[in-house]
Formats: sequence, structure tokens, C-alpha cells
Amino acid sequence: MNTIDFKPGDLVRIKVKSQSYEGLVMPRTQYEGPEHITIKLKNGYNIGLSLNRILESSVIKRGDEAKGSEATVIPSEGGQVHGDILLLSTGGTIASRVDYRTGAVKPAFSSKELAALIPELGSIASFSIRSLMSVLSENIRPSDWTMIAKAVQEAFLAGFRGVVIAHGTDTMHYTAAALSFALENPPGPVVLVGSQRSSDRPSSDAATNLIGAFKFASSSRSRGVFIAMHSGLSDDSIAIHLGVRVRKNHTSRRNAFHSVNRRPVAYIKGLTLNENTVIGGKGEFIVRPNFDDRAALVKFFPGMKGSYFKFLVDEGIKAIIIEGGGLGHVSEDLIQPITEGIKKGVFFGMTSQCIWGSVNLNVYETGRDLLSAGVVPLGDMLSEVALAKSMWVLGNGLNATGQMPLDLRGEVTGRRWLSVEQD
Ligand code: ASP
Repeated sequence: MNTIDFKPGDLVRIKVKSQSYEGLVMPRTQYEGPEHITIKLKNGYNIGLSLNRILESSVIKRGDEAKGSEATVIPSEGGQVHGDILLLSTGGTIASRVDYRTGAVKPAFSSKELAALIPELGSIASFSIRSLMSVLSENIRPSDWTMIAKAVQEAFLAGFRGVVIAHGTDTMHYTAAALSFALENPPGPVVLVGSQRSSDRPSSDAATNLIGAFKFASSSRSRGVFIAMHSGLSDDSIAIHLGVRVRKNHTSRRNAFHSVNRRPVAYIKGLTLNENTVIGGKGEFIVRPNFDDRAALVKFFPGMKGSYFKFLVDEGIKAIIIEGGGLGHVSEDLIQPITEGIKKGVFFGMTSQCIWGSVNLNVYETGRDLLSAGVVPLGDMLSEVALAKSMWVLGNGLNATGQMPLDLRGEVTGRRWLSVEQD
């Protein structure tokens, strides 16, 4: 085995067979043996090399230990903080590594290790890091949204200009919506960021997504909640989506997230921020972090039985969002059980199974019957956003029929977007 005096942070050139690589030496994770070295290439990808295969090597420039590892780590109870950005970690693939014995991906990086893997972060902004939890996002619950919202509030009170939240991608759009309602007029950007491949994989998109999130959080004038993810399949552009208008639309691609019925608010190309629009005004920062999870999101399907709604109402569910067909429809035999639920005080809101466009209950007979029963049409609000909003409305004692159809954070555009050609 070659013994080479490389230190994390060194810029090196390494020749393996006919290939030559140039990049930064990454710190070793606890799973990596001494026989491998991981290099971060200029394009953001990591590559793992066996020391035995190295034919030639040289240090181009000695580096400091990865700058990120010097960031202040804040214990979960809060404490000494400094910097422009607070990186809050909740887990997910972005903070995961592969367990090479089982092949499973587990949330296992602390936010400190994550920052150490991406030394560029320290050159974009000074930052502190705080691990809030370490879970895959399918395990995130509305009570966790409350915890995250309070952590963001503390961060702004402590003087950070922006907050970046590392999060699993499966439910990141729910959390983004929930935080959008919980945090009214945040003093700066709150940017959720995930990755489709774990940070220790050569093809990981974690670094570029985090760099985009840091860039936006540290230099945008927008105030609100956003998601930063790849805008295409290549590594050169990160899209910044408004937290209430974004959805995960692909199981595995890097550009899984798309803005729906509006354009992304910004792109980061390289390290340049191109903002289409500045979001948010001068209003007071108001935090209402409570959520009541007695709400349900139900997809209509052919053959659906009315007893499903009765079951939910009997279980004590207070708000039901129906993802109806097309313009917002269900079969006629469901109107009676829905009417009974409404009479018992349950809120019924209608969204569409179609991703693009808006519901309209005035076009067909079924729609009109739903309207007379008291079902509330929710325009082009995304179903996941409507669910998070209903939990927030219930959790804060607001009137669902009055608040749900309103556009509070950009969740109802009132526009007709007929094209599915999104960036
Ligand atoms: N299941 C993972 C999660 O949502 C997937 C990911 O992070 O991309 O936490």
C-alpha cells in the first residue's frame, strides 16, 4: 500500500492508470479504512481511490483542515453562536452514509461531519451548526415541525441572517410548507436542502445542493421558506423553490423537485445568484409553531367507499383534504358521507390529483353538489401544502373555512398555468 502524506484540505493531483484527478482531500469517515482516500473534484463530485492503485501523486497546495470542521457546534439546547448562517441538521440522505455491510443508507453524519465534507461552505459564509435530530424524513412528524420552527426562531433571535436546514427529501416539501405557515415574515431566508445520494457516495448531490443553499441563505434579500435542489441533471445549476409551491416529482433523479404553477424564485449557477424575484416584505416576524395532526389527506380513487370518510370522522379527524380527480371531483355516492362529516364540524377541502392547474367545482354536476355540501375548493394549492396548512390552522385555533382558501404565503397563485414544462 502507498503511504502518502495527504491531509484533509490539501489540494492534490493523483494519477491512476490513464486517469489523472485533481481535488481536495476529504476527511476520513469512521467507516473508511486507511487503504482509501476520498478526493472532492472541482465539479463537486467525490471520488474514492484505493491507495494501491495510485501511480503518481503530488500536493499542489497544502490546505487547512476542512474549514467547515472549525464551525461552532451548538448543543441542542442552544448556547454560544456566531456567524451568518445556522446549519440545522435533521437527518435524511444528505446526512447519511452507506453501511457497506448491509448496503442500507442510514442517517449517520453529524452536521459537523457534513460541514467537514464540504469545505467550500466556510468560504461562502461564516456559520454555526446544530444537529436537531437524525431521522429519515418519512419519520418526521408535525411535532418535529414545531421543534424545527422554534429552532429557526432562536437562530434569527441570535442574529443569524439565514438558516439552512438539511432534511430528507421524501417529506421535505411538507416541512417546507409547514414552516412557511409557522414562520411569517422571517427576517431572512430559511432554506431546506436535501440530496438524492448520500454524502459519502461519489455521485452525491449533497455538496452542490448545500453550496447553493448557503449561497442563497447568505446573499439573497428574500424572506421566507425555500427548498434548494438541483435544477437539472448536471451539476451546474441549483434551483431555489418557494416552500409552498414545490413538490418531489421523481424518485431518484437529482432534479426531483419542481416548482409547480410558478417559476423557481432563483438559480445558483457556480457561485452566482440569479434572482427572478425577491420574496417577502417588511412585516413583523410572527411565529406560530403549533400543529394539530388530526388532519388527513385522502386520494379519491374509483371504487372508494363512503365508509372511509365515516371512519376518519369517527376517529376524531378534524380536517380532510381530498385529492379529487381533475377539477376536483369524487364519485356521487361519496357526497352523502362527506355531507354528514361536514355536519359534524369536520372541514373538507378539495385539491386535485393533477399536479398542474387549479380545481374548479363549478364546471360539472358533482362539483356543484360538493360545493352545496360545503366542501371548500382550494384553488391550485398543492395537496401536501393543504394538509400542512390544515394542521397549522387547527393547531393555532384558526377558522378552517375562512383561512384555508386564502393565499397566505403564495400557496394559491390564482393563475392559469397550462404548461407542464417546468425548469
Ligand atoms: N428516505 C429519505 C428521507 O427522506 C430519502 C432522502 O433523504 O432523499 O429521509
